[in-house]
Formats: sequence, C-alpha cells, structure tokens
Amino acid sequence: MVTIGAGPAGIYSARKLAEAGHEVVIINRDIKPGGLVEYGIYFNKHKLKEGVRKQFRQILADDHVHYLGHIKVGEKADLTINELRDLLKPSAMIIAAGAQGTKALGIPGDTAAGVYHAKDLVYHFNGLPPFSEKDFKIGDRVAIIGVGNVMVDIAHWLRR
Ligand SMILES: Cc1cc2nc3c(=O)[nH]c(=O)nc-3n(C[C@H](O)[C@H](O)[C@H](O)COP(=O)(O)OP(=O)(O)OC[C@H]3O[C@@H](n4cnc5c(N)ncnc54)[C@H](O)[C@@H]3O)c2cc1C
Repeated sequence: MVTIGAGPAGIYSARKLAEAGHEVVIINRDIKPGGLVEYGIYFNKHKLKEGVRKQFRQILADDHVHYLGHIKVGEKADLTINELRDLLKPSAMIIAAGAQGTKALGIPGDTAAGVYHAKDLVYHFNGLPPFSEKDFKIGDRVAIIGVGNVMVDIAHWLRR
C-alpha cells in the first residue's frame, strides 16, 4: 500500500493498514512527518505537539511502515502517480495530501507588498522551507483580518 502525505490522515491510515497486515510506504513532500501538526500548530505548544509527535514516532517505527520524506508527488513534481505505481506496484494508494491552500479575499490591495497569508507566516515561524527562509517585512502596526485560533498564534508571534 502507498500513502501520499504524512499528516495525521496519512499516518493514522498507515497505522490501520499496518495493523491489518499490509506493508505501507508513506511518501511525503516535507522532510519531517506530521503535516500541519508539525507546521501549523504554534511552536511553543510543546505539550500538544510532543504528544502527537510521540504517537507519530510509534507508528513510523512499525516494521511494516516505511517513511520516505522530501518527495513531492504530482505531474510536475519528483514522482507522478504512474511512476509511483510502476516503482512500488501498490495494491492501492491513499492520497492524504491535506488541503493546505491559501484563500485570497479578492479585494483591491490583497496582493500588495506587506499583505501576507496567515498560512505562509505560520509556516515561516514553524520552520518549513522555503517559507522559513523568506524575509517577511513587518512594521510596528499590523492589521490582522480574521479572528480564529491562527490569528491568536500570529498576534502572539508578533508580540514576542
Ligand atoms: C495554521 C494552522 C493551525 C492549526 N492548528 C491546529 C491546532 O492547534 N489543533 C488542531 O487540532 N488542528 C489544527 N489545525 C488543523 C490540522 O492541522 C489539520 O486539520 C490536519 O493537520 C489535517 O491533516 P491532514 O493529514 O489531512 O493534512 P496535513 O496535515 O496538511 O498533511 C498533508 C501532508 O501531505 C504532504 N503533501 C502535500 N502535498 C503533497 C504531494 N504533492 N506529494 C507528497 N506529499 C504531499 C505534506 O507534506 C503533509 O505532510 C491547524 C491548521 C492550520 C492551517
């Protein structure tokens, strides 16, 4: 079996498949497993992050689960689905690549310099390349649009 993506969906499905007696190969775009648990949850929520990482480490340590990171699957990526099929000849594939898009507001100015998507900033402060390397220019006065959990994390990071 092949699972594409090593976020919670990919890793927990690998566990179920391994428990059912399958050999599972997980292919993941990022070097580290964990998906948005690793790169979305704020970096100082140690208890939460470490609790989930521990579960992920146990699943990935299973002899029937094989993790391959830093491989992007797609038409213009490292491997296409067909290449993956030829290479590993899996009986089935699970695509658990998440839904990590950004949502523009579609109003004038939303592509101006200094307007950032929350997800890109979160990836930046959680150390996901290439966002970790990007220089986000931020002044003293910042407006955040949206009032959810991620807003709290970003406000927290801006005040650090
Ligand atoms: C900023 C942010 C903060 C969040 N904070 C919390 C929180 O505090 N608590 C909570 O419960 N939930 C939180 N969530 C939601 C939670 O993280 C997601 O619901 C969950 O991670 C989704 O799991 P997933 O496995 O479907 O996808 P993801 O976690 O997105 O994992 C997808 C995986 O697929 C890989 N991948 C993507 N494309 C490809 C490709 N083409 N080829 C190979 N691999 C690929 C990626 O590398 C990644 O490892 C947050 C989400 C965001 C965006």
